[in-house]
Amino acid sequence: MVKRFIKYYKNHMGLFILDLFCAFGIAALDLVFPMITRRVMYDIESGIDITYIRTLGIFTAILIGLYVVKYIFNYIVNYWGHVVGVRMQYDMRKDVFKHLQTLPVKYFDDNKTGQIMSRIVNDLMQVSELAHHGPEDLFISLVMFIGSFILLCTINVKLTLIVFAFLPVLLYFAAKKRVKMAKAFKEVRKKIANVNAQLENSIAGVRVSKSFTNEEYEVEKFSEGNEKFKNARTYAYKYMAEFASGVRFITDVLNVVVIFAGGIFLIRREINVADLATYLIFIGLFMQPIRRLTGFVEQYQSGMAGFERFIELMDIEPEVKDRDDSVELENVVGDIEFKNVSFQYDDNKSILSDLSLNIKHGETLAMVGPSGGGKTTICQLLPRFYEINKGDITVDNVNIHDVKLKSLRQNIGVVQQDVFLFTGTIKENILYGRPDATDEEIIQAAKKANIHEFIMTLNEGYNTYVGERGVKLSGGQKQRISIARVFLKNPPILILDEATSALDNESEAIIQKSLEELSKGRTAIIVAHRLSTIKNADNIIVITSEGIEEKGNHEELMSKEGIYTRLYNAQFKGFIPDEI
Ligand code: ADP
Ligand code: MG
Repeated sequence: MVKRFIKYYKNHMGLFILDLFCAFGIAALDLVFPMITRRVMYDIESGIDITYIRTLGIFTAILIGLYVVKYIFNYIVNYWGHVVGVRMQYDMRKDVFKHLQTLPVKYFDDNKTGQIMSRIVNDLMQVSELAHHGPEDLFISLVMFIGSFILLCTINVKLTLIVFAFLPVLLYFAAKKRVKMAKAFKEVRKKIANVNAQLENSIAGVRVSKSFTNEEYEVEKFSEGNEKFKNARTYAYKYMAEFASGVRFITDVLNVVVIFAGGIFLIRREINVADLATYLIFIGLFMQPIRRLTGFVEQYQSGMAGFERFIELMDIEPEVKDRDDSVELENVVGDIEFKNVSFQYDDNKSILSDLSLNIKHGETLAMVGPSGGGKTTICQLLPRFYEINKGDITVDNVNIHDVKLKSLRQNIGVVQQDVFLFTGTIKENILYGRPDATDEEIIQAAKKANIHEFIMTLNEGYNTYVGERGVKLSGGQKQRISIARVFLKNPPILILDEATSALDNESEAIIQKSLEELSKGRTAIIVAHRLSTIKNADNIIVITSEGIEEKGNHEELMSKEGIYTRLYNAQFKGFIPDEI
């Protein structure tokens, strides 16, 4: 783990070493002040006259010079140290996002968006803090403690040992408090997130709660989260107070130890006043390394935990890796075959078993049947969003397992029920189909999808923003943009999974026309709700959770007077059932 962490320093070694060098300098320079003060006190004790002003001037000049150097060091640590962290975090975020893009669809089924986001944003923030503050803090505090130990030993070994015997014990307790405080603040952040989520949910659902007159219930639910948030913060401040006053207490105790033990040594004439004063100045300096060292303990814990979660994500196997002998699908004609395919999402529930079907190039296969029967699943297996457990799927008689994933997916266009448009302009969204398309091609695609005229009525035309802060489009308009995308991609194989189910009749009629246009000359798999739209399909299969129940074209299926006939008649008479 630590090794993989260190790997990220590699590209920033120069800056990192500079950072550590300056951290070392800061700590070393801090030790100079008490030593010069001691020297001055010595001189004063041994008797001085007016000419001493000159010496004093020299010391002052030296100190100012050193502090200017320290100022520069501090600047470098504060700025460039953070830059190291920022750049390392950038590298990690880049790596993890790239990796995320390769993960199988299954990963996104199993993990919530919020969790994935917090790994990439919050966790890495902690990691980058540790990346530079960790070594800096460790370095500065160690140099200060070891340096002061050595310097103080040259003054009086016994007193130094007494002071440093106390220090580890006190540090241990301070570190414990600090970790507790950090945990408490983490809890606060969690509770804030809950309050936010609850707030968002309640506001979004305000019409529902009003219509059910459940306002009071909402208030109660909210006050529960609100109270937890309050309690979490109260706790956090308790630990913060314990920690902050604890650190102060440590240095106070050390001062008392020095005064008491040093006083005894003074009486015994084992130490002089100037040396005792030097001790007290050193103790005053300890506050900073104590804070840094305890901070390091906390940072190490949360930073490493964040890095562990990062590594966990990085170690998830990417979806299907192309093999060296994977072939490029070229000049696809569009013959598709499923041979004895079995599939399950999870270990315990079989979704498809021993399913076979066959679609000749240029033909249309329609799938109908009750929801949950597995139609969408079949649609997702062809572009290899999931791996089948048994059987083969072939395109142009090539097993999709032996094909480069990218070339497989480039030959398949999908239109789904829930359209997703990216935040951006309409043009960008259509271009998603083929990023190197020309403006003229985009317009042609939009025309074929029957959306060009609508786009032209918008003030900014193709440059109109869609998405959260952009214009609000109707379901039908969004669907037509997504169809334009597929027109632009121009794939030989087409999958339409309930592309019109979410639309009102009028939009459906318009979109139906563009879908028919889109299907021309392509191999198409169509899942349809409304059976009137698939009457002309070359083949129709009725799929239930039992598998393929009926198969044939419209006339054949009607003459069977089975499930299809029942479905068709029900719709024809004006009922449009979801289920059989
Ligand atoms: P249809 O499209 O015919 O309505 P689906 O293919 O969506 O049917 O679903 C078939 C079965 O697979 C359902 O029982 C559904 O619960 C299950 N299912 C669908 N998607 C997933 C998934 N991502 N993970 C686990 N089970 C799923
Ligand atoms: Mg479905």
